[in-house]
Amino acid sequence: MTGDFQVPPAFVQALRQHQSYLLVSHVGLDGDHLGSMLALQQALTIMGKRVVAYLPESIPASLSRILYGLENTSAELPDEKFDAVVALECPTLGRMPKGFEPRKMAPLLLNFDHHQDNENYGDINWVLPEVAALGEMTFELIQHLDVPLDRSMATALYVAVLTDTGSFQYSRVTPATHRRLASMLQAGVATDEVSRSVYRNSTPNVLKLLGRMLNDLTVDERDGVCVAWAEITQKSLDEYSVRPEEIQFFVDELDRVEQADVVVLVREAPGGKIKASIRSRNHPINQVAAIFGGGGHSRAAGVTTDGKISEIRKALVDAVHTELTKLTKA
Ligand code: AMP
Ligand code: MN
Repeated sequence: MTGDFQVPPAFVQALRQHQSYLLVSHVGLDGDHLGSMLALQQALTIMGKRVVAYLPESIPASLSRILYGLENTSAELPDEKFDAVVALECPTLGRMPKGFEPRKMAPLLLNFDHHQDNENYGDINWVLPEVAALGEMTFELIQHLDVPLDRSMATALYVAVLTDTGSFQYSRVTPATHRRLASMLQAGVATDEVSRSVYRNSTPNVLKLLGRMLNDLTVDERDGVCVAWAEITQKSLDEYSVRPEEIQFFVDELDRVEQADVVVLVREAPGGKIKASIRSRNHPINQVAAIFGGGGHSRAAGVTTDGKISEIRKALVDAVHTELTKLTKA
């Protein structure tokens, strides 16, 4: 796979043609959607558009410290109408922030995503599941809008690709990914500062909590299928005074277990929710996430649900076993 793709002219046209845009993304902020959103906002602003980037969630310091333009985003839903809503990385309308109704905000809805379970709900849909990060699509889009990449946009896009590819390691990374990254570096991304801020910025308490998680991790091997799992309760977050957004990278640490086919991290989240992150080495697991009302990519999926953490964890690990046993015996 070379990683080259076409940018649909209708999508570019829709961004050239109108005057005001509202950008929105999924709940559960991550580097890819935040970086893509900021870069697109800056590009459209340079083109003279009015652009509101709606970001109702708090932004972790690891990202806010290195990204530019956050002061131009809005935590409140604006009380005005726009020409178009651009939904970034929202496979379904249900993944948008609570109470957000795109059709009430604008007559035109652009669906811009790289999730394979995207439901093509937009008036114009540009969805490429084979692309590793939305940041790569945003990079190409900005080129097609004829906006020269500056350091600020390049940094946002670099963060998007860095975080969505496990530091350029995942299978969907292509030669074109690296060519795009080269252009970003050319535009002045401080790669050392970005990596330090994103990956090596934990408080001692976050690391102590990580230590506890690793100490407690369980390897569950049945019929040749190996699942490594861990749980993080609200009680342990409180005990260490750690905020949920500070432990987003914990699943990557769990993903270091040598023999695991799949790793599952289940944690208690704000609002009494249970959030699970699932990572798979060789087999699709987004179907398993879907059983629990979640979704995501083939090898990286998530679930948000109600219930008791240990019960959800057990049901999820059992479902992973069932699915992988089926797939490996097929
Ligand atoms: P995470 O484990 O939160 O890093 O998410 C991994 C992937 O699964 C990302 O592409 C998320 O957008 C997706 N994902 C996470 N949680 C959910 C959910 N509750 N519903 C649908 N997709 C999700
Ligand atoms: Mn993404």
